[in-house]
Amino acid sequence: MTAPARPDAGRNASPFLYGQEAEAVARVLESGQYGHTDVTEEFERRIAGLLGVPDAVAVASGTAALHTALLAAGVGPGDEVIVPSLTFCATVQAILAVGAAPRFVDIDPATLCVTDQLVMEAVDDTTAAVIPVLFGGRAVDLTHQEELTERGIAVIEDAAHAFGSRSGTRRVGTTGAMTCFSFGPIKNLTCGQGGMVIPRTPEEADRIRMMRLLGVARPQGERANSTTYRVGSFGLRYQLSGINAAIGLAQLDHFDTTEHTRRRLWRTYRDALAPLRGVTLVDVDVDHTVPHLCQVHVPHRDDVFVELRARNIGVAVHYPPNHLQPAFAAWRCSLPATEDCGEEILSLPFHQHLTEADVDHVVTTLGQALKSAGGS
Ligand SMILES: *Cc1c(COP(=O)(O)O)cnc(C)c1O
Repeated sequence: MTAPARPDAGRNASPFLYGQEAEAVARVLESGQYGHTDVTEEFERRIAGLLGVPDAVAVASGTAALHTALLAAGVGPGDEVIVPSLTFCATVQAILAVGAAPRFVDIDPATLCVTDQLVMEAVDDTTAAVIPVLFGGRAVDLTHQEELTERGIAVIEDAAHAFGSRSGTRRVGTTGAMTCFSFGPIKNLTCGQGGMVIPRTPEEADRIRMMRLLGVARPQGERANSTTYRVGSFGLRYQLSGINAAIGLAQLDHFDTTEHTRRRLWRTYRDALAPLRGVTLVDVDVDHTVPHLCQVHVPHRDDVFVELRARNIGVAVHYPPNHLQPAFAAWRCSLPATEDCGEEILSLPFHQHLTEADVDHVVTTLGQALKSAGGS
């Protein structure tokens, strides 16, 4: 007999609210200011403060963060951007948005991240940028980062999974790369929808600030008394609304709890999974990471997936490799480790509503699913 399903194990991911978010949103709604506001700027300052960086620029989403970061780095048509194929399609779409081409690279199956060696093997004269993806929240240390920067190759981290994680003792976002965070619905910190770029220089910050407001330069205080405005650069409607920033600010007050809970749940999974044969956990370096996902490699993944879904366990796959997607067929290539991972990886339910009992239930059910999937 199958144990009765627990509702929180039925979802793969889910936002977690601490209780003050709705009130914070209501205050902004009542203020009548819904665009880029003081609340947005307070959110920028608080994020910069938590990370210990001089500046942070809020935008509408993680995708907008990647898009504007690439533009600010001067990446465009004729350029190639080194990127792992195993990432959310948003990373690749941001590259196409600036008219550049993705150069897909393979990953280390143990971490699902690129390595310094894989990146350096792919670098050539057309490389304008490298986008390491901090998969599952794990920091990626490129030993040659300084050399890349000196060669004019921008390192732009896709840290959509990695808000709060550390590289050694330093938070992700403080290691000299341009860093892009997502505050989408299920990320470590949510604004409902939102993103942030950690720029490398004040000039980069200025360029992104102008681009996120349709290129409109708005010297402080001037606009209210003026009959015109100045469009100073290319730009898009990419600002972070104060409505969304208010959610992020309310979440930030509890980020210690977020960190602690996500680490505890990941370690609970690790311990519970240890006795299961045939299952390999993707290593997120939990001591330094605020885990975003809990992923395993399993045999007969598609069958295991179906079995678990049938038992109301909210498993998912992050992600189907991009180099095999129809939209990116022009850049198809052979990436053996990525292709193997694409058939083996399975994301277990991972969000802050889970209890230790939920985790036990998921792992027990996974054990059963592996037996029926592999079996006879
Ligand atoms: C979520 C995500 C993005 C995009 O962020 P949005 O806020 O959804 O636009 C980019 N890359 C990765 C790896 C993501 O998980």
